[in-house]
Amino acid sequence: MTDLTDSTLLRERCFVAGAWIDADDGGRSPVTNPATGATITHVPRCGAEETARAIAAAEAAFPGWRAETAGRRAALLRRWFELILENREDLALLMTLEQGKPLAEARGEIDYAASYVEWFAEEAKRLYGDVIPSPLPDRRIVVVKEPVGVCAAITPWNFPAAMITRKAAPALAAGCTMIVKPAEQTPLSALALAALAERAGIPPGVFSVVTGSARQIGAVLTASTAVRKLTFTGSTEVGRLLIGQCAGTVKRLSMELGGNAPFIVFDDADLDAAVAGALASKYRNAGQTCVCSNRFLVQDGIYDRFAARLSEAVAAMTVGNGLEDGVQQGPLIDAAALAKVEDLVADATRSGATVAVGGRRHALGGTWFEPTVLTGVTASMRVAVEEIFGPVAPLIRFTDEAEAVRLANDSDYGLAAYLFTRDHARVWRVGEALEYGMVGINTGLISTAVAPFGGVKQSGFGREGSRYGIEDYVEIKYLCMGGL
Ligand code: ADP
Repeated sequence: MTDLTDSTLLRERCFVAGAWIDADDGGRSPVTNPATGATITHVPRCGAEETARAIAAAEAAFPGWRAETAGRRAALLRRWFELILENREDLALLMTLEQGKPLAEARGEIDYAASYVEWFAEEAKRLYGDVIPSPLPDRRIVVVKEPVGVCAAITPWNFPAAMITRKAAPALAAGCTMIVKPAEQTPLSALALAALAERAGIPPGVFSVVTGSARQIGAVLTASTAVRKLTFTGSTEVGRLLIGQCAGTVKRLSMELGGNAPFIVFDDADLDAAVAGALASKYRNAGQTCVCSNRFLVQDGIYDRFAARLSEAVAAMTVGNGLEDGVQQGPLIDAAALAKVEDLVADATRSGATVAVGGRRHALGGTWFEPTVLTGVTASMRVAVEEIFGPVAPLIRFTDEAEAVRLANDSDYGLAAYLFTRDHARVWRVGEALEYGMVGINTGLISTAVAPFGGVKQSGFGREGSRYGIEDYVEIKYLCMGGL
């Protein structure tokens, strides 16, 4: 790891209560580079005891942190934001090493992660309340917003930095304290962010990162009465489990779960834009994002042309180690991810789909899968029903708008959807008919810190980013002032 400009950003300990600690029992887990299979380093395998200490520290730090002025919290977050950008190259390198995404994408994620910290540093100062006209002459009704309290965040490996900052920044801005449990695969990005938070002067206990056993750490975070809120990004399956675990203590929850994004291309679409949008939304991060297009619904009249153009573009993609120049697609995160993608493609071809391009493990070996386009897919095939989380585009044919909307909404998920058309009336009709939290219209890229990110149905609830994002971390209190 001598390639880091600042080698102190490679942390091999957890950050709890403002101190860098090992697991009580000395247990450590390897962090693996998915491109080479090599062990990068080890991080502590913490469990219940260390998590309890992180909670106690967050509880102890909360009164002081909430009592700071919004301006002071904003200034510390702003400093954190600056430090993230100043260390962009090192953070991106760490991310590519542990996660596999191309370095250019890792740099993009660092900018994106930092943008949440900047945004919420600013929003900290705008957490306004209300004065409501009173029905009685001798009363005044005042609404104030207060921080929820100690928050826990459980985050995934696909965006190792941004999924942390989009939770931690609004929490800290609102005056909450937070404990993060990052994914086992990508703890180094989380620990580097903690090192920079410490450097920025964020007080001890306000932001802790505990690595280790998901089950043990999750059990303690969810059972604790001191933890008032859990925010989770990950699979619907684990989200469901965590919602259940939080029932006992009636916690506030934000859940950003799985998706099955439809990407609808109408006959009147701009073909170039649709192909560009498809590439951006499908193959980014090797298809491992919850807003990646999962099903392409393509109208009869444009289906063959879209399939041909997309296949041509996909066949030209450069696959390799994310550290190499020009690589557009890195490896999948692990062997289980590879097996799932392979299985879904095999199931589709057995059921009658055709491989237009790709379709196999890549010649590079490891966990690489070829960028793939499947034609002749039907809505009932597993590849169109399950979240693929890999570089596979299944193309389904439809005839009219009503059928497209019906197919698009025929899912338990409701995170992101995309549609391509030049008809403005259709934009509104279909945009409103789609049961999704986010709709990209003539674009395949929708994520930005200034807009509300989140889903409906079994894709979860709560919104991250935008002015709505901080609301997930505040309680509304009503003060009724009588006898005036
Ligand atoms: P993904 O499919 O992205 O790996 P997961 O839902 O499995 O999604 O993981 C997302 C996060 O949830 C990770 O930090 C993981 O460690 C954590 N996690 C997985 N299982 C549990 C559990 N039983 N309790 C608490 N956290 C869990």
